[in-house]
Amino acid sequence: MLLSLGPPAQFETIDFSGMDPGTQTSHKIKWSKRTIEIAFSASLGSPGPNIKPGSDVIGAARRALRRWSSIANITFVEIASPAVSISPASGGDGTNLLTVADTPENEELFNAGSTTGRTRVFYDPETGVIAEADICLNPHLRSADGTALQFSTDGSPDTYDLESTFVHEIGHLLGLDHSDVLASTMQAHQALNGTYGLTAFTGRTLSEDDRQHVRSLYGPGQHLARIEGRLVDNSSLGTTIPLGSVSVWAETIPWRTFKHDCSTRNRKAREDLSCRRRYRPGPRHQHLSRVAIFCG
Ligand SMILES: [Zn+2]
Repeated sequence: MLLSLGPPAQFETIDFSGMDPGTQTSHKIKWSKRTIEIAFSASLGSPGPNIKPGSDVIGAARRALRRWSSIANITFVEIASPAVSISPASGGDGTNLLTVADTPENEELFNAGSTTGRTRVFYDPETGVIAEADICLNPHLRSADGTALQFSTDGSPDTYDLESTFVHEIGHLLGLDHSDVLASTMQAHQALNGTYGLTAFTGRTLSEDDRQHVRSLYGPGQHLARIEGRLVDNSSLGTTIPLGSVSVWAETIPWRTFKHDCSTRNRKAREDLSCRRRYRPGPRHQHLSRVAIFCG
């Protein structure tokens, strides 16, 4: 759903729904910054009846944020906030609120529907740059037939997995839309725990489809392996010539494959950096990296 706003009109909002596949936009919306402050509403510490007592609400929120920040170039900074209601569509307050509170403003977002969560994103329609995003969980969660339901973190049957809902909504906070890939966390529907006798924890983890989408917006996590250096041709004694048209290929290979490589009689292979690392102490099954450079 796209809303046109009155002044200050520099931002539009999009309300991403947890289960409504109709929320599509032609805008590529994303954050321009890589560090995003997330305000944990006081409601996370004292949730209402929509969450099963004893659930690890704050832990689920933190783990959900880490799911995304661990694989994309995004850092979340958690702050505490006394706020409990998300910003109205008519204007944001600059705070990215994560709330589970039962307030009229939050309830209005769901209209007694069965949607598990919603994320309201404020962005510049000219650039797609997100200025604010608020996440709210349904304070009166109900099934399609009106039965009251709860969120939980322990896999209780006939409850929704809270952490999975958080991971999905944080995807929207980052600007991701719904995915058509059924195994993805960003697909539009969330199953109840106990469906087919299984806990519905798969939404806690990201599929390859989720990873590709978020990395297309922000790039891979900066803590992932990096290769840096200068490539020169030193084949002529005393001179180094910068190389052009060079492709660098890198892979991580399991220990056993690597050991096989090193056992060859190829002197070049034995002298390879990877082969020397073989003798370093470390876990037996550690993965070792190998780099090859192709010229031309
Ligand atoms: Zn959704």
